[in-house]
Amino acid sequence: MAGAPLFACPHCATLHERVPLDHGAAASCVRCDSVLYRQSAISLNGWIALVSGALIVFAIANYFPIATLTIQGLSVQASLPGALFLTWQQGHKMLSIMTGLFGFWLPLTQLLFMFWALLAIRSRRLPADFRYGMRVLHYALPWSMVPVLMLGILVAIVKFSSLATIHPGPAIWAFGLLTFLLTGLSRLTTSRLWCYAEDAGLVETATAEEANGGLTASCPCCGLVQSLGDEETPESCRRCGARVYFRKPNQTARVWALVTAACIIYIPANVLPVMRVRTAASDGMHTILGGVIELWQLGSWDLAVIVFIASVVVPITKLLALMVLMIKRGWRGNAVQRQRTRLYELVEFIGQWSMLDVFVVILLSAMANFPGISQVIAGPGAVSFGMVVILTMLAAMSYDPRSGWDRRSAGGTVRTGRSAPRSFETGDVA
Ligand SMILES: [Zn+2]
Ligand SMILES: [Zn+2]
Repeated sequence: MAGAPLFACPHCATLHERVPLDHGAAASCVRCDSVLYRQSAISLNGWIALVSGALIVFAIANYFPIATLTIQGLSVQASLPGALFLTWQQGHKMLSIMTGLFGFWLPLTQLLFMFWALLAIRSRRLPADFRYGMRVLHYALPWSMVPVLMLGILVAIVKFSSLATIHPGPAIWAFGLLTFLLTGLSRLTTSRLWCYAEDAGLVETATAEEANGGLTASCPCCGLVQSLGDEETPESCRRCGARVYFRKPNQTARVWALVTAACIIYIPANVLPVMRVRTAASDGMHTILGGVIELWQLGSWDLAVIVFIASVVVPITKLLALMVLMIKRGWRGNAVQRQRTRLYELVEFIGQWSMLDVFVVILLSAMANFPGISQVIAGPGAVSFGMVVILTMLAAMSYDPRSGWDRRSAGGTVRTGRSAPRSFETGDVA
C-alpha cells in the first residue's frame, strides 16, 4: 500500500499506513494493541445530522428548567444557567466559572466547532483558519463533561427528593439525550476530522517514502507524521501549527509537580465541607464522605456507590496509577508495556468522572434555594475538589505514554519513532 497516509500510534509511536477498513472495523496497533482507528459506519452527512441534533438538544437543555421543586407551597425552577448564576451571586465565583466551563461553554464550543469543521469538509473548501479551529476543538474536547453533569443531575434530584416535591422539567430529558449524543460524538476526534479531510484530498498527508529512516513524530492535534531535526527541539506542525514534540518536554518534573499538588489539595477537598445545608431545624456542613453516607441512609445505595467511586476511588486510582507509570518507566518487555498502556488508557478514560460531586453541589444549590426553609450553599471543599480533578487531568496530559516504549538495546538507542511503517491489524468491533 505505498502512498497510503501515515499514522502513528499515540501510545507507542509505531508508524502504520492508514488503509481503508470495512465499516465498523477497527485497526489496532501491531505493537501495543491500542485501537488506532475505527472505520465509522456514520457518513459525513450522518455526523452533521448528529451534531445539528445535539445543538438543538443543547439549547433545550439549557433554556428549560431541569426540575420544578415545591416546598410548603413555594416553588423554585432549577436550570443549569440559573445554578451557575446563583453560585456566582453566593460568592463562589471560581466554582461557578469551573462548572460553567465544563458543563456549558466547552460542550457548546465542541458542538459549534465540530459543526463548522464538518460543513467545511463537506463543501470541499477548507477556510484558512480551519487549522486554528481544529486546535481549539482539540484542546476543548477532554474538558467537555456533559455525561458527568447528567449523572450529577440524577444524584442531586435523589438527594433532594426527600425534602421537596419534584416535577422533572423538559431539560432533564434533553440532558439525557444530549449525554447519548455527545457519547457518540466523542468518536469524532480532531484526528478523525483531519482523516476525513485527508481522504477528501483537501490537505497534505505524510507517506512512508518521506518518513522512512528519519526521526519522526506525529502532531498531537492533526496526527500528521513529520520529520524532526532532533529529539529535544519541538517544531510547529507544518499542517496545523500545533507544537510537535518527539516526547513531551520535562515530563518527569511536570507530572510529579501536578501529582504532588493534587495530593496536597486532596486533603482540604475531603476535610472541608463541600456544602452547607440550612433548614428551619438545622444548619450543617457536609463533606464528600458525609454526602455518600447520607445518600446511603436515604436508601439510594446504588447512587451512594456511584458517588463513592467517582469521588473517592477514581481520584485515588488516578493518582496511584500516574505514580506507578512514573516510577516504573524502564523497559520490561512488550507484555508489561502493554499493561502500562492499558493503565494509561484507564487514567484517561476515568479522568473527568470525579467532577461529579462538584456538579452535584452546584445543582443542589439551585434546587434547594428556599431561604429560611431549606437552602444548600456551596462550601470551600467543592472548589478544592474541582482543582484536584483539573490537576490530575493535567498530570495525565503531561505524561507521554510513548516514553515507556523507548528502550535501549545492545546496538545503542532504538527509538520507536524511527521504526519503518507497518500494516494494520484489523479486527471487527461490535
Ligand atoms: Zn501502539
Ligand atoms: Zn498538526
